Amino acid sequence: MKTTRKGMREGELEKDTYDRLACSECGETLKTRNDPDEVFSVRTCPECGAEWKEIG
Ligand SMILES: [Zn+2]
Repeated sequence: MKTTRKGMREGELEKDTYDRLACSECGETLKTRNDPDEVFSVRTCPECGAEWKEIG
């Protein structure tokens, strides 16, 4: 799984008008899934199901 930072750099992610992360392909704002066993949050696109991890 890529980080959101890498996703932004590679153009897979963009910021929407409210400065939230969105999937570039679908234009959907990402959902957040918190995994208690991991130090990062998982951001998912509700449309295509792509996932990125958000660290910190
Ligand atoms: Zn998507």
